[in-house]
Amino acid sequence: VGEPSDQWRRYQGAPTGTDIECEGWRQEAALRMLNNNLDPEVAEKPEELVVYGGTGRAARSWDAYDAILAELRDLGDEETLLVQSGKPVGRFETHERAPRVLIANSNLVGKWDDWQHFHELEAKGLIMYGQMTAGSWAYIGTQGILQGTYETLAEAGRQQFSDHEGLAGTVTVTGGLGGMGGAQPLAVTMNGGVCIAAEVDEHRIDRRIETGYCMAKTDDLDEAIERAEEAAEAGEAYSIAVHANAADALEGLLERDYVPDLLTDQTSAHDELEGYYPSGYTVAEADVLRANDPERYREESLDTMARHVQAMLDLQERGAVTFEYGNNIRGQVEEYRSESVEDPFAFPGFVPAYIRPLFCQGKGPFRWAALSGDPEDIHRTDEAVLDLFPEKEHLRRWIDLAREQVQFQGLPSRVCWLGYSTDGESDAPEEHREGGGGTAGADDLTERARFALRINDLVAEGEISAPIVVTRDHLDAGSVASPHRETEAMRDGSDAVADWPILNALLNCAAGADIVSVHDGGGVGIGNALHANNHVVLDGSDLAAEKARRVFTTDPGMGVIRHADAGYEEAMDEAERSNVAVPMRDR
Ligand code: NAD
Repeated sequence: VGEPSDQWRRYQGAPTGTDIECEGWRQEAALRMLNNNLDPEVAEKPEELVVYGGTGRAARSWDAYDAILAELRDLGDEETLLVQSGKPVGRFETHERAPRVLIANSNLVGKWDDWQHFHELEAKGLIMYGQMTAGSWAYIGTQGILQGTYETLAEAGRQQFSDHEGLAGTVTVTGGLGGMGGAQPLAVTMNGGVCIAAEVDEHRIDRRIETGYCMAKTDDLDEAIERAEEAAEAGEAYSIAVHANAADALEGLLERDYVPDLLTDQTSAHDELEGYYPSGYTVAEADVLRANDPERYREESLDTMARHVQAMLDLQERGAVTFEYGNNIRGQVEEYRSESVEDPFAFPGFVPAYIRPLFCQGKGPFRWAALSGDPEDIHRTDEAVLDLFPEKEHLRRWIDLAREQVQFQGLPSRVCWLGYSTDGESDAPEEHREGGGGTAGADDLTERARFALRINDLVAEGEISAPIVVTRDHLDAGSVASPHRETEAMRDGSDAVADWPILNALLNCAAGADIVSVHDGGGVGIGNALHANNHVVLDGSDLAAEKARRVFTTDPGMGVIRHADAGYEEAMDEAERSNVAVPMRDR
């Protein structure tokens, strides 16, 4: 990727404040979000342009990064910039309501859609791994995944430990404290539980401790178990990282006959070469092996992964509630080590286990960032969301916890799960359903649209000092096809049908989102998923209100129709309640 550019060295984060370098806030938002993705507080390895998730990059090279910034600074209000795998490749006259930036990352034609072809093309400088929010400039640091992890674990607690309050008194064991995985210990403690997390890279552990995501660390598995058990018995929330390879740590638990209550993993297993670490090496030693003998690294990495999954299966058999957390560790073992592990899919993925009912209602991880850089602007949005949805106790708890425990990284931002649901909660007092002041009074607005319109009004009124950009994870209700994750075990067997994310991206363009992207790979690796994303810039204008109203109706609406089409009752109920047209779907 070359040497970090002077521009990046100058910024080391997103520009902030109310003066802009670009022609308008839509272009400026793209420039700030790209730089925010590469903020050293936000990105895992910014000097390599890596944001998170193994090698998820924000731009293909430092030259491409410089060129994107130059194009954005020069981009008119009636032009659209095209970015192909992290490199600007064209610019056309379009119109004001069209997206300012269109992004396609990591996509390959079906027959060539695998890591081998990807790596060959990457070595030639022709393609880039965009992960999900890395290449679409929507990553906001670990908070982005924190609420999703908090929601997933809360649901796991509700389903599995209904006699406990949240996860209080239970121990969760996991692996990986990277950009996403680092959210796990805090999400467990926010639910009142205890977490042991195995991580091979001590720097990552230290980073999570410094930022308040994890409480303690040790090299000694016995000490971790002892301290975890003490905390669980006392009903205290506690987290401890074990500096170890996760496969070794889980085998260590089996040897000691220690069975956790909940078991999962977020090492970067989707990429056996650049994400996952083989057992028997320190990080530095493994990095040397990867550089000198990538084929041997790959084989040893897959061997370790097979042991890792086998240990998860054995702990499951002994009573641990076990699920995969979206890193395709089961798929990798099934594909490359089926001779050593009989049925890697004997434990479920987190979406069918805990998240799908939310997707059926169009609910998903909705997030926004303050382009001013001023935390006060996010505090104002926190108040707005609580004011708009006073009936949502769970949301209040999240916002309160996030205010208390989440340190902002880069541009101040907030994430929460909002959905379609046009009737709000029907028992909400009338004045609370009148979301959005002047522009947003109607009852038929979706939750996401009500929120966005209220924020747009606050920007217009000067209550928020600069525009807010609203975006989301690609992991959303109607924007992904990923048979080992978001669309695992769909009721009608449509897991691998990838028309949906493509329709989602096209619809986001038609509805006028300001940035639209479509990627291959994401959290589960090349060839395993297609997914789309959007950004809308709320600058207080009528145009922003028009875009927000459309995008935040059609986008969560895709989640409702996708699940209704697959035959989910909850989605059909939501479609009926919220008046979403689902042609050809009779009950
Ligand atoms: P990351 O690359 O930033 O971090 C991975 C971490 O795992 C690193 O700290 C690495 O040192 C550690 N690690 C690797 N192999 C290990 C091993 N054998 N034992 C112990 N530690 C090991 O990745 P991330 O952003 O944290 O994402 C983690 C995984 O989760 C990826 O596969 C990603 O694609 C997936 N993911 C899941 C979701 C979700 O919603 N569940 C969302 C995004 C990404």
